[in-house]
Amino acid sequence: VSILGATGSIGESTLRVIAEHPQRFAIAALTAQRNAEKLIALARQFRPTAVAIGDETQLPGVRSALHPLGIAVFGGATGIAEAACIPADITVAAIVGAAGLIPTMRAIEQGASVALANKEALVCAGRLVMEACATHGTRLLPIDSEHNAIFQVLAAEHRAAVEKITLTASGGPLLRRPLATFASVTPEEAVNHPRWSMGAKISVDSATMMNKGLELIEAHYLFDLPASRIEVLVHPQSIIHSLVHYADGSVLAQLGMPDMAIPIAYTLSWPERMAVTTPRLNLAEIGALQFEPLEAARFPALGLARAALNAGESHLIALNAANEIAVAAFLEGRIGFTQMAEVVERVLAETPTTSIGSIEDVLAVDESARQSSHTRIAAATLA
Ligand code: NAD
Ligand code: MG
Repeated sequence: VSILGATGSIGESTLRVIAEHPQRFAIAALTAQRNAEKLIALARQFRPTAVAIGDETQLPGVRSALHPLGIAVFGGATGIAEAACIPADITVAAIVGAAGLIPTMRAIEQGASVALANKEALVCAGRLVMEACATHGTRLLPIDSEHNAIFQVLAAEHRAAVEKITLTASGGPLLRRPLATFASVTPEEAVNHPRWSMGAKISVDSATMMNKGLELIEAHYLFDLPASRIEVLVHPQSIIHSLVHYADGSVLAQLGMPDMAIPIAYTLSWPERMAVTTPRLNLAEIGALQFEPLEAARFPALGLARAALNAGESHLIALNAANEIAVAAFLEGRIGFTQMAEVVERVLAETPTTSIGSIEDVLAVDESARQSSHTRIAAATLA
């Protein structure tokens, strides 16, 4: 198993599952962007063939710590892409953001399996990613809990009878907060998710519900369904992770406690299942499951994502890039909570619909949307 983004929340959960099955798994490559200390500790514990550290200033330190153990050490973005090419039966793509696109593509090109957490790669290059999987015979196993749920209950032989799918959404930390106070939501409040413990970017995305917008796009590519057949349903307890509605009226769902080790374990053991120490579901204790429709006025990000999906690929790239820049600015206290959607909306308004033929095209639109986002944020800060 290789893990791209081994030091993050998904990386950590993956290694927790792997540590339970030392006979079954060995580590090929581990990568990290900045946290050299954690990468070194993980390498000492799991003894990979290779590691890569994105921040090249840390390369000498990682080299001197790991070369004596016979572990190859790569550095920089190219080093991470190189680590993604180390032979592995399954690569866990768990880098956050569009930064994960190139390494994920390199892993896909190896023709083995890729367990995908890095939803932004699918949002900005979904068609190219799916085409690369077909070309190289690579199986893409979704880690994102909603998509993993659908993957678990959508049998290939029933594909033609799928009427629609429902992605469940916890609603995040702001579900009950008065809308009039949204402008004053702080980064601490936004990342304080009631159900899941995750990295900072996806936690903010969950508060704005941009996460569900990105997941809508992710589902569109993974399951080849139009946006009109993908619904979102608020389910605050996060027990039902998603549902598939069939033409005969049957609805299949996957349930489980909210712990990413569960979907991760399924991707690592697929098509089998393996024992993992995860919290067990006790429905009698939970008593009732709640559902409610999503309030569009509260969470404009979902509408922006739906519109971008209809507008075409350049808008999906710009949506993702502008959101990444806006979330970073919000976390740094440079813009307010409600300004994130405003930045994304304005950048989309000035994004032309261009055709996307290659990853280079994706990166060019991505870069230009990031520039426009910086300009918008600078203007918002001065205003
Ligand atoms: P995180 O911030 O905890 O970890 C991110 C990882 O990516 C770290 O290992 C970091 O070193 C690496 N990284 C960051 N910037 C990088 C760069 N520029 N180049 C290379 N590597 C870089 O994030 P996370 O919560 O683990 O999320 C990872 C991905 O999984 C995201 O796409 C997220 O949407 C998705 N996801 C996460 C969860 C969750 O529960 N955390 C659930 C579903 C999907
Ligand atoms: Mg999810």
